[in-house]
Amino acid sequence: MPGLLAALTELVLPRHCVGCGQGGALLCGACVPRRPTSGPHVGVPVLAAASYDGAVRTALIAYKERGRRDLVRPLAELLSHCLATAGAQLLVPVPSAADASRRRGGDHVLRLARASARRTGARVATPLRLSRSVQDSAGLGALERAANLHRAMRAAPPPHATSAVIIDDIVTTGATLREAVRALDAAGWSVRCCAVVAATPSPLARPPGPVYRGPDLTE
Ligand SMILES: [Zn+2]
Repeated sequence: MPGLLAALTELVLPRHCVGCGQGGALLCGACVPRRPTSGPHVGVPVLAAASYDGAVRTALIAYKERGRRDLVRPLAELLSHCLATAGAQLLVPVPSAADASRRRGGDHVLRLARASARRTGARVATPLRLSRSVQDSAGLGALERAANLHRAMRAAPPPHATSAVIIDDIVTTGATLREAVRALDAAGWSVRCCAVVAATPSPLARPPGPVYRGPDLTE
């Protein structure tokens, strides 16, 4: 019976890799070579599970903009590799603008953080809020992104001394993560590092960050 159910589910909801179209997994192993990388310098290390290209890019766009919520599972699995490396126990997702969340049918970064927390046994806290409206950063240059996010967030104070790992889906110039680090720091949080699914090399000459080489994340 479980086999029949699985077969019926497959008929109704066929699982195919968004990268190569092969049946079986939503993001197959062949399409996601594990290439952990590092993001731009934001005051703490930025761990990225993959580069923002190929199947990972396709999956993130489908998850974020095309309503493919089912992709949260493979994306959270990717992110959880970074979280294990970082020894993350408390995840703090970056806040999404209310209108973007409405358009997407929910907060995609919060959903990603919760799915990752379920995998790793970490907890999720949501102290970060946008304190003013911000533009969608797509299409903005590095300086415009920095200005767009400048002092745009505020954070509730930390409930206890556990250090936080900031979660986002994609890092480009690091403007969002930098502002999240600043806001949490100002509210008294200790931020261990940031973890993202994918890092995109900015064509806008971002300054190179220090390369992450091991699990020692103490600052
Ligand atoms: Zn594939």
